[in-house]
Amino acid sequence: MNALREIDGFVQALHTPPGRALEKLGELYAQLDCDIAIRQPICTTSGRCCKFEIWGHRLYVSTLELANFLQVTRGEQPGRPRTDSVAAITFPLPLYQEDGTLNPGCPWQIDGLCTARAARPLGCRIYFCDTTAESWQQERYEYYHEKITALHAAFNIPYRYMEWRQALTLLENVLK
Ligand code: SF4
Repeated sequence: MNALREIDGFVQALHTPPGRALEKLGELYAQLDCDIAIRQPICTTSGRCCKFEIWGHRLYVSTLELANFLQVTRGEQPGRPRTDSVAAITFPLPLYQEDGTLNPGCPWQIDGLCTARAARPLGCRIYFCDTTAESWQQERYEYYHEKITALHAAFNIPYRYMEWRQALTLLENVLK
């Protein structure tokens, strides 16, 4: 029963995330972006880090960030209940390859560029291949991730922490 309620809560949070929670998340992203700007890391690998298997790492995302990504990429007003309950998520590029395995890259990366910059989650904002970033990015990730986790508790949003393309697959399935 509790598990069912948890799943219902998760799906509801994706459909109608609390507006105040999204505002708080936006404030955290803005703070993080300033934090990064001060450190001035350099990007030298032309978006190869968004091709996860090739680069050798994974991106993870929480429930609230997933809900925020969905709203921002759809151009919806943060926190406004959806009137169009049947709209499914669409991906700019296929999430899966023809053989049924996950594409190695993020479906929002086109010609080496992120086409979802305003919506991108914490991991995308904080990761830089610049070796000087190694001294601070893990600590900063944990700092902001803890704050995002706390937002779930504060707004009673079921917390899930999922690999990015698995999370997008889940979105595709629950938003049909
Ligand atoms: S959302 Fe943008 S930055 Fe993040 S993995 Fe996808 S293309 Fe890369």
